[in-house]
Amino acid sequence: MKAAARITALALAAGIALLQLSCGDASADGGKKARDTDKKAPAQPTKLVKKTDAEWRKTLSPEQYKILRHHDTERPYGKVYDEFKKQAEGTYYCVGCNAELFTSKEKFDARCGWPAFYDASQHKNIKTIRDTSAGMLRIEVRCKVCEGHLGHIFEGEGFNTPTDQRYCINGKVLKFVPKTAADDQRKGEKDPAKDNKPSKKSE
Ligand SMILES: [Zn+2]
Repeated sequence: MKAAARITALALAAGIALLQLSCGDASADGGKKARDTDKKAPAQPTKLVKKTDAEWRKTLSPEQYKILRHHDTERPYGKVYDEFKKQAEGTYYCVGCNAELFTSKEKFDARCGWPAFYDASQHKNIKTIRDTSAGMLRIEVRCKVCEGHLGHIFEGEGFNTPTDQRYCINGKVLKFVPKTAADDQRKGEKDPAKDNKPSKKSE
């Protein structure tokens, strides 16, 4: 009788091990699939991105081109602002060069008609410049990687945020990637097989 019990226990253990194996495979697959979606996080630029005027015109939409390359400002309270307000967790990249600039963590509703962030997520990709155009002193925000104009920073306006800074950014030059896709991709790049630990309990 004892032997029968042992066989049952062994069979059970084998069953559990199999279950764990199949779970491990499923997560590995999930990682791969997420990487193939359109909504994946773009590869980060490893050097400065420089293009000729003609090349920029070719790669950007006319509106993106005017904002990024000629310091234009999009119309406030436009479609892109409505979309921005609806977007859940995720990351914002530069449309000119794919450099990460902001995440939903720094996003807040400034009710000003343009996407607002209280901080950048990647300061290494951000450059600020004194801007005296339009008859006032403002701080311009640029993407450091492609020199693209993004918007301006305002400070000390009394917003209840950790920095009381407002990165007022043109939504048309931001590329949004929702959190799930970006995260799954990162997970897939690690090593999903590591999660597959067989149980060592014998008694
Ligand atoms: Zn850029």
